[in-house]
Amino acid sequence: MNAVRNDLNVSPSTLAFLDRPKHLLIGGRWMPAASGKTFAVIDPATGREVCQVAEGDKEDIDRAVTAARCAFESGPWPTMTPAERGKLIWRIGDLILGHLEELAEIESLDNGKPLRVARVADVPLAADMFHYMAGWATKRHGATLPISVLYTPGVQYHSYTRPEPVGVVGQIIPWNFPLLMAAWKLAPALTTGCTVVLKVAEETPLSGLRLGEILQEAGLPDGVVNIITGFGETAGAALVAHRDVDKIAFTGSTEVGKLIVKAAAHDLKRVSLELGGKSPNIILKDADLDVAIPGAANAIFFNHGQCCSAGSRLYADASVYDKVVAGVAEQAKKIKLGHGLDPDTQMGPMVSEIQRNRVRGYLEAGEREGARAVTGGKAREGAGYFVEPTVLVDTTPDMQVIREEIFGPVVAAIPFKTLDDELIRQANATVYGLAAGIWTRDLSRAHSLAAKLKAGTVWVNCYNIFDSALPFGGYKQSGWGREMGDAVLDNYTETKAVTIRL
Ligand code: NAP
Ligand code: MG
Repeated sequence: MNAVRNDLNVSPSTLAFLDRPKHLLIGGRWMPAASGKTFAVIDPATGREVCQVAEGDKEDIDRAVTAARCAFESGPWPTMTPAERGKLIWRIGDLILGHLEELAEIESLDNGKPLRVARVADVPLAADMFHYMAGWATKRHGATLPISVLYTPGVQYHSYTRPEPVGVVGQIIPWNFPLLMAAWKLAPALTTGCTVVLKVAEETPLSGLRLGEILQEAGLPDGVVNIITGFGETAGAALVAHRDVDKIAFTGSTEVGKLIVKAAAHDLKRVSLELGGKSPNIILKDADLDVAIPGAANAIFFNHGQCCSAGSRLYADASVYDKVVAGVAEQAKKIKLGHGLDPDTQMGPMVSEIQRNRVRGYLEAGEREGARAVTGGKAREGAGYFVEPTVLVDTTPDMQVIREEIFGPVVAAIPFKTLDDELIRQANATVYGLAAGIWTRDLSRAHSLAAKLKAGTVWVNCYNIFDSALPFGGYKQSGWGREMGDAVLDNYTETKAVTIRL
């Protein structure tokens, strides 16, 4: 055990995990990368190396896709009954809960998020996704269709549809909710009967590897899920380019989403995309400000602003604007920054030095263009990648901080006077369309605004409310398709129509 690990305040099971070799899961076996290469996992609160993981690339992707193809076509998986598949998926959820503390520690250490958040959000929600999806294994069905076929008069047919798994799926996930994003991807793929090659994010590979062990413990047949750690430009790109992958499911930036669409065009792979956002959060003059102000702070500062759904553009009615700005700034000042594993920490570091520097770049651009920070405004120097919770005012719609996704704890507050013209136009004036928030006591106004907002999710008098049963995804450049709910099953299904002449 190395010196860094000695002063980590984590459980013996987490230490034991950190000390095991971090290999690739291919065809039910853990193996080093074909190249033998590894790369470092960094604790973003200290900048120190936690351990090394295998650097998978094209050759490993080839092996993993072969294993996934083999598991899809033969062996126990394709002949397993829906009930058996459902029970197995349920067991994965149970095992995640059984390892809750260890998974929360791993996630906190790797990503930087507070342990207490990982305990109540990331890990239980990941388990819930498997529990929820387990039920669909026995409930997806086709239909019998009464057909007429005008050009064969007098002939009768029996027609029905079969929902079939799309096949071998390549899944690529980001670093903001590593375990939860793996669950959002794996659970629906498994319930529909697909097999998977999962490429986890290079910044946060650890919980995906621990999940791989749990999948084995649950009894998932070899090769059904293969897990590759490595870089997007090599392993990720090889997965997207692979001729024997039927579908890519991606969560990440809009920029990489576009690269994936281009790369998938050569063989018209199915593609689903969950991408970035620049979500408007709207406080009307009749809102209960005691609820709306902490709600607006949480909408941006939860997970350090590293949420695709973050309420990063805060629109407040001019009559309450000053109070809202002062209130959210007050909340921001109270947030205690620190190591994710420290029980007092309310906000951890950015996930990486690159992300810290990216956010700093936006803060500098905002300042250059004339925005003013009423609180925060600085990315700290040094080994931990901390950014101060920041509230910007005096912005204009053309500024970079208003147009682009910052993916950090930075909110821009913007006053508005008239609802329809000014507010709706500005709220929808973005290439994104992932989420939106409305705070008001007037529910009829809330319904009419919700209908006008071009976003896949609208929260009223709440924010960042997620549930396995609720579809989540984006309009416009926030993506294609939906995660969760029954809607996600379409991402992993081909519908076959069978017609029999009687
Ligand atoms: P990213 O840079 O797009 O990376 C996401 C994943 O794609 C990583 O696994 C990455 O690998 C991989 N990748 C990078 N380049 C690739 C390529 N050329 N081909 C194939 N794969 C490639 O995004 P990020 O910075 O990790 O995550 C933040 C973004 O995710 C934000 O824009 C956020 O809004 C979005 N997000 C969206 C949702 C949603 O549900 N809509 C949820 C969470 C996050 P490496 O890790 O090796 O770079
Ligand atoms: Mg990268």
